Amino acid sequence: MKLFEYAAPRTEAEVLQVLSPEFGKTEILAGGTDLIGLMKKMIVTPDRVVNIMNVPTLQGIEPTDEGGVRIGAATTLDVVRTSPYMKPYSAVLQVIAGINSLQLQAQGTIGGELCRRPQCWFFRNGEGLFWSSRHGTGERDDRYHAIFDNEGPARFVSPSRIAPALIALGARLRVIGPRAEDEQWVPASAFFQKPKHEQQKETILRPDQLLTHIELPPVDGWLSATYEVRQSVGPDAPLAAAACAFRHSGGIVREARIVLGQVAPTPWYSHEAVAALVGMPVTVETAEIAGQAAVQRARPLNNNAYKVQLAKVAVKRAILLAAGMNPGGF
Ligand SMILES: Cc1cc2nc3c(=O)[nH]c(=O)nc-3n(C[C@H](O)[C@H](O)[C@H](O)COP(=O)(O)OP(=O)(O)OC[C@H]3O[C@@H](n4cnc5c(N)ncnc54)[C@H](O)[C@@H]3O)c2cc1C
Repeated sequence: MKLFEYAAPRTEAEVLQVLSPEFGKTEILAGGTDLIGLMKKMIVTPDRVVNIMNVPTLQGIEPTDEGGVRIGAATTLDVVRTSPYMKPYSAVLQVIAGINSLQLQAQGTIGGELCRRPQCWFFRNGEGLFWSSRHGTGERDDRYHAIFDNEGPARFVSPSRIAPALIALGARLRVIGPRAEDEQWVPASAFFQKPKHEQQKETILRPDQLLTHIELPPVDGWLSATYEVRQSVGPDAPLAAAACAFRHSGGIVREARIVLGQVAPTPWYSHEAVAALVGMPVTVETAEIAGQAAVQRARPLNNNAYKVQLAKVAVKRAILLAAGMNPGGF
């Protein structure tokens, strides 16, 4: 590991003071379950590490005046999972339960989960995030890579498991910096981006900005669920996932949001699946049609066509689960 300075500020403003405007110079440390591994492998080599776990305003969950909840970015996944305020937000709770590792749940934070770096094995092997001439002309093993939005050099999948659920639930995120007075609330759907070059990351955060809070709107009759297709019960990344939230009346879906995970460089909002579901009753057949619609624009790479079927199934089962129906499978 490269030698680095360590800072442990006590306020949000102090965090901003010690962050560099240049990518790679400083890194924010929350639970450290992702960052420390990357630093040990010298994939990330900051001059300064900024621990945010001592900033009290970044911790905890509280109800908002509007009837929703506000979660501090440095709140651990375990605290999120067990908070009584989170009970109505099934889509989030199901994902955290699925992470299936007591250590990661106790140590990992929700902000770290949203900002963690891609799991792409070429990136984790020190080859960077982009398909390029560096990779040679031979076929790459892209079995875990994107099936949507995979033209061009960025073909990794967005690693966050919670992001699809937050987007489906209509969450917004508070970002501050570079100056203490700079504050913006960003829809969760606008927080993620497909980077175009090495000087861009997978979120809109600049190196001197901090994610401080995640705010969920009141549930207001919306039902939600996440379904992840996993290879095993361990803490591995799912192969495909979908989060779904909808509001219905008279048995008919009136509004819906359906977001796929692990299939594109960003969480993948499926307008096609939403269009297929709205105006319909939730049945096994309509859920199946929505799943089919969700994958109609999929363009698999050499080795990941199997993910198309998994993504379709994830959408179908997320819809059934949200409706309180048996999603099938095991
Ligand atoms: C064996 C293993 C298995 C794992 N499996 C999974 C899994 O299945 N699913 C999953 O989601 N994750 C998994 N992870 C990754 C990770 O542990 C979790 O996502 C965890 O929630 C990350 O939180 P953290 O607080 O430990 O993040 P950290 O490691 O502290 O930070 C992660 C990244 O986010 C940045 N960051 C953290 N907080 C902020 C903030 N508030 N503002 C701006 N940037 C910030 C950091 O600079 C860093 O780049 C796994 C990790 C390991 C070691």
